[in-house]
Amino acid sequence: MTEIDNQHLANEGINDAQAYVDGAGTLDDLGFRTLRILKIQSNVADKYMLPLLMRLPWADGNEVSLQAAADVAGVSRQRMAQIQAQLYETELQLEHSPPLLYKMLDAVRSASTEDEFWEKAQTYGIVDRGRTWSLDAVGALFEIYGFEFLTQEWNLAVLGWTEKEYQLNDVARECIRTHRNSLGLLSTVSVAADLQIKEDEVRALVKETYPHVYGSDDLIVANSRGPGQFFSTLIKQLLIHEPLTFQEIDEGLRRVVAQRSSVVVGSPSERSALLGELIGHDDQLARAVKIVGDVVRLSESEVWLREVFRASPSGLLHRDEIVEAAIKDGRSISSVNAYLSTSPILRRCEGVGIYRLVGRETSDDAVRSYRAAYFNGHESPKLHYRLVSADVLELSVPFTYSSIAGGSFFSDKTLSSLIESQTFASRCGCDGDEGYGEIRLTDNGVYILGFSKLLHHAHGVHDVEFGKSLTVMCDFSDLSATLVLADASS
Ligand SMILES: [Zn+2]
Repeated sequence: MTEIDNQHLANEGINDAQAYVDGAGTLDDLGFRTLRILKIQSNVADKYMLPLLMRLPWADGNEVSLQAAADVAGVSRQRMAQIQAQLYETELQLEHSPPLLYKMLDAVRSASTEDEFWEKAQTYGIVDRGRTWSLDAVGALFEIYGFEFLTQEWNLAVLGWTEKEYQLNDVARECIRTHRNSLGLLSTVSVAADLQIKEDEVRALVKETYPHVYGSDDLIVANSRGPGQFFSTLIKQLLIHEPLTFQEIDEGLRRVVAQRSSVVVGSPSERSALLGELIGHDDQLARAVKIVGDVVRLSESEVWLREVFRASPSGLLHRDEIVEAAIKDGRSISSVNAYLSTSPILRRCEGVGIYRLVGRETSDDAVRSYRAAYFNGHESPKLHYRLVSADVLELSVPFTYSSIAGGSFFSDKTLSSLIESQTFASRCGCDGDEGYGEIRLTDNGVYILGFSKLLHHAHGVHDVEFGKSLTVMCDFSDLSATLVLADASS
C-alpha cells in the first residue's frame, strides 16, 4: 500500500475523469480508479481513501468490517458509515463506461461457468493472479457506472450460470436419492459415473442433503440425522451377540433391505470393508455406539423374542411355537409376525418356518432334525369342505397356531379348483358387514392369505380354543366368507 500512500491518494493529476477510468488495465486497477474518482467527486477527505479501499468489495475485491475500516481511518464506526454513505450518494457523471467493462462482458458472454469466466479474465489480462473477487463485487462495480444495459448483461450471464449450477444440483440430488438405499448406503463410484463428476464432488453433494457421512472409501453411509437405519440394524444385531462376523452382519443388513423393497448397494467385499473401517473385529458394539451414540434400543417385541429364543435349548424355534408363546403372553400376533420377517436380530433357517437369533450358530443338520422332530408332533392343518348349494361352500378350518399365524393349510385338488383365483371378503357372523381382510388360495392351493385377522377375532372375541374347527361359509354369489359361530364348538 506504500505506492498508494505516496502517489495516488491526492487529487492531483486527474484532469479528465473519463480518460482516467478508461486507462484502467485490470479489474483491481479499475476498482481503485473508480473509488478515487468517487472520492474526489463526493468531497471525501484523502485519509479515507485507504480505509474505503479495504472496506468496499468492488474497489479491490476484498472487504473488511466497518470497525476495521474505522480503526484504520482513526474515526468512530458511525463516522466511517457516514463517509461510506456520502460516497454512495454521489453519481459518476461519465460519457461512456470504461473499456475494461466491455472486456469483462466479452469474457462473461463466452464462458459457461464461473470457473471458465475467471480463466478467460486471466487470459485477457483483466485479473492478474489468483481470484480474490466475487461475482457480486464485480456486479457492484458495473452498477456504479450506472449504464443499465451493461449491468443487465452482466447479471443475466451470471444468473445463467447459477441456474445451470442449480439444475446440476437438482439432477445430482435426484441421482443420489436413487442410488442411496433404505439403509442409507451409497456407492460414490456409481453416482460419480452417472453424473460424470469426481468422487470428491459426489461426497460434497451428498453432504448437502445428508450431513452425516460415515466411511471414507467408495461405499459410504449417508444420513440426514440420527443413527439411521444402517446403524440401527447394525447395533441391534450386536446387542444380541458380539462380536459378529461381517458375513452375519451383512445378512442382517440384506434382510432389512429386502423387507423394505430397497436395493442392495455395493459388493459384499465393499460392505465388509466399510464394516471393518467402522467397527473392526473387537469391541464392535462399543465402536458403533461411539460413532452414533447410545440411542439404538431393541423394541419391546424384540426383547420378548430374544427371551423366547434363549429359552429354547437348541436356539431354534418354529414359527408356530413363537405364535403360541405370543398368544400365551398376550402379545399381538401380527406385530410378532411382522418382526419375524423384518427384524435384523432374527434369521430364517433354510427350510420351512424355522428361526434362530443372530450369532447363534447352528448346523444344517441341527435345523433338519429340529424340523423333523417338530413336524413329527405337528400335523399341518387340513381344510375340509362341503358344497351346501350351488353358490355356497362350507369350509372347516382347523383352528391352530399355524392357521392363526396365517400359515399353510393342505387342501385337495378339487377344493383348489373350486375356489382358486376367487377372492372372498371375510367377516364374522356376529358383526355383519365388518370386514377382516380377503381370503384366497394361492396358485399351488395350499396357502390361504389374509385370514389371520378373522381368526384373531375368533380367538379374542369368541374365545375359540385351539385344536377346534371353525366353519366358514364361502358364498360365490357375493364372494363373502362368513365365520359361523354356532359350529365353532363342534
Ligand atoms: Zn365375531
